[in-house]
Amino acid sequence: MTDLAHASVAELGRLLDARKVSAVELAQAALARVEAHRVLNAFLDVRPEVTLAQARAADARRARGETGALLGVPLAHKDIFVTRDWASTASSKMLAGYMSPFDATVVANLKDAGMVCLGKLNCDEFAMGSSNENSAYGNVLNPWAMGSDGRGGPGAAVPGGSSGGSSAVVAARIAPVATATDTGGSIREPAAFTGITGTKPTYGRPSRWGMIAFASSLDTAGLMTTSAEDCALVFNAMLGFDPRDSTSLDQPREDFTRALGAGVKGLKIGVPGEFFGPGLQPDVEAAVRAALAQYRKLGAQLVDISLPNAELGIPVYYVIAPAECSSNLSRFDGVRYGHRAARYADLADMIEKSRAEGFGPEPKRRILVGTYVLSHGYYDAYFIQAMKVRRIIADEFQAAFRQCDVIMSPVTTSVAFGFGEKAADPVAMYLADLYTVPGSLAGIPSMSIPCGFGAGGRPVGLQLMCNHLEEAKMLGIAHAFQQATDWHQRVPAGY
Ligand code: GLN
Repeated sequence: MTDLAHASVAELGRLLDARKVSAVELAQAALARVEAHRVLNAFLDVRPEVTLAQARAADARRARGETGALLGVPLAHKDIFVTRDWASTASSKMLAGYMSPFDATVVANLKDAGMVCLGKLNCDEFAMGSSNENSAYGNVLNPWAMGSDGRGGPGAAVPGGSSGGSSAVVAARIAPVATATDTGGSIREPAAFTGITGTKPTYGRPSRWGMIAFASSLDTAGLMTTSAEDCALVFNAMLGFDPRDSTSLDQPREDFTRALGAGVKGLKIGVPGEFFGPGLQPDVEAAVRAALAQYRKLGAQLVDISLPNAELGIPVYYVIAPAECSSNLSRFDGVRYGHRAARYADLADMIEKSRAEGFGPEPKRRILVGTYVLSHGYYDAYFIQAMKVRRIIADEFQAAFRQCDVIMSPVTTSVAFGFGEKAADPVAMYLADLYTVPGSLAGIPSMSIPCGFGAGGRPVGLQLMCNHLEEAKMLGIAHAFQQATDWHQRVPAGY
């Protein structure tokens, strides 16, 4: 029988349909892997009895004659989605032990499809970061570079962030799929750093209901998988209109697998010169250029395009995202939920102390920056200005998509960096998002697929960006590459 740990969502669905394996057996095997790889520190909350109850329910549905590609397939959720059955902390001390009275829509949709949840995954605090070093619950290890001691010692690399737990568990084949969120790159960058497929759909396609808010005009739920095909299967159940999210797109349900066989003959791939500028490391560039050559071999055509203001993405994003975060995080005041200081003099003192104790340094930094750029006298100079440039960047993407069907670029300037390398310098850390924030500001679907290895045998990602609502097409383009190459099947040693 196929090695269950290395089986794809598609294969697991077939095995379950053929009664070759039960959901309970899959859940037990996955839970055993969760325990065997605790050193990764990817999971924040695991409750085997809840997981097994969900698996039994999936088996019972099958026994009643139900079928379904996802019925009984295990997954894990980034701890940004609230869940009734596991604590929801956003990796912050502020929400330590918090039990939500409801499930996020994304969680509920996947549960309805019969997916079995293994638990909640570590991430950067409130999804702010690029290395998972901002979690209040410790670093997550990158299965490709665990360090000389195999426990995060010398030579170890970050798994990327903010969805570091999600990338690590899929790279380590603990779960075939994990949910994640992407505000400025938090799905694509960790996927690139761990050699997996990370996909951010169009802003507004996945519901934000029950996703702990960071920057509401950018926050987008998506997936970490081992292939584009698996992502399409899970998107079918996960995405859709939600009246409880005011920015949810009222689009009909669609089959995201429909373009998987479309191929890339005659496809026009836009290659933006600005994404291959100074700062891009030669090992990453070589792997990305080789992937572009592969696409050409498959029948696609490369077209030089320009996104002249994309390089302003970082300053624009780091005004807009903190502005929205300062507003969103004001709800954590120690009154209704979240951390409350043990001793205080009056209400103001209680709020001040609770927030000072509950938030880590990165959310505090962003609340300060965000409050500043929204304050009287600076609002026009910074926030409004940033919003104007955001529109210019989005318009440039529209102009580019008149010349090409898909845009391709590197995801990051380098392969996964080491722990502590950028942690002391917030600006160096923010630059990790150079190639991912433009797509976020434009709200377009984009993804990272593994396309080779760079320095230290660490994975390199290729970024694909398509126009709004074209995720089925984008997944088809990624699938064509994955049919012709096996980078997405490479598994780190020991997993
Ligand atoms: N690294 C970016 C940040 O720190 C992106 C985070 C995200 O996409 N959630 O804001």
